[in-house]
Amino acid sequence: MIKGKEKLIEIKNLKKYFRVGKGKVLKAVDDVSFDIYRGETLGLVGESGCGKSTTGRTIIKLHNATSGKVIYDGEDIQLVKTAVRLKENKKKMQMIFQDPYSSLNPRMTVLEIISEGIYNHEANLTNREIKDKVYDLLESVGLNRTHANRYPHEFSGGQRQRIGIARALAVEPEFIIADEPIAALDVSIQAQIVNLMQELQQKKGLTYLFIAHDLAMVKHISDRIAVMYLGTVMELADSENLYENPLHPYTEALLSAIPIPDPKMERTRERIILKGDVPSPMNPPSGCRFRTRCPKVMQICSESVPKWQEVSLKHFVACHLYE
Ligand code: SF4
Repeated sequence: MIKGKEKLIEIKNLKKYFRVGKGKVLKAVDDVSFDIYRGETLGLVGESGCGKSTTGRTIIKLHNATSGKVIYDGEDIQLVKTAVRLKENKKKMQMIFQDPYSSLNPRMTVLEIISEGIYNHEANLTNREIKDKVYDLLESVGLNRTHANRYPHEFSGGQRQRIGIARALAVEPEFIIADEPIAALDVSIQAQIVNLMQELQQKKGLTYLFIAHDLAMVKHISDRIAVMYLGTVMELADSENLYENPLHPYTEALLSAIPIPDPKMERTRERIILKGDVPSPMNPPSGCRFRTRCPKVMQICSESVPKWQEVSLKHFVACHLYE
């Protein structure tokens, strides 16, 4: 189910290329299009190096797009140039990072870290009001005011991620990109952070782009899931639909890698082992980018790029098997 029907963000033919010297170009994101609906969580999944983080950073304008559009609430954010409007957009969109330790300044107290954004965006508040706001934020992420004067190294990984979430929430954003927010945490802590993010989403009406490197991580939080491979999106569907009825051979392989809790079923499950490595994004294969590893490859796959098409309601795939 798509939560709400209102598109918050439309990403159209987005490309982000990096020049890497000697005339070589790294095509990190290559013609990606999808929408994000207000109030939903869209999971963005793929192996490391597939371009999912670069996609997130380009959407939020930490990178300038090489071409394509990011339309936020009806406005092309690439065209926003004035300092005031850039600041407004920055307030609406925030990011949570994978490694909460390296993204938190070790020389700043938690109070300073969280209040930094509030000072920048709400200059009219008094110091007392800002402090109170930080205390409220700490409580909303399961910490408390006694944590405000401590430094990042005094916290566990899970607590540091809670601080990272509080920092992102400090400017009252409506859209958050969570870039592998649980990947560096112990499995026992991962569920706590996912639950916290879901709780905050409901309370504050947030929209998430949740980036992860495997499908198991996004399963419980995502309303819809997009699967990325080598700079392009291969499949996009409602979560349930994607898990029950995967269409793209790459999605099938990713799903087959998820362990099943039942030991009997786990022993008999069939794993699809992909041969070879992910090719270089500097020199991607012709036609379908997955063809060098695809168990169902056909002749046409090297000759033409599969179209991105909606094969059933809200279920998109790029694969010649469905054309
Ligand atoms: Fe495999 Fe061909 Fe489909 Fe690509 S287009 S996923 S190579 S079958």
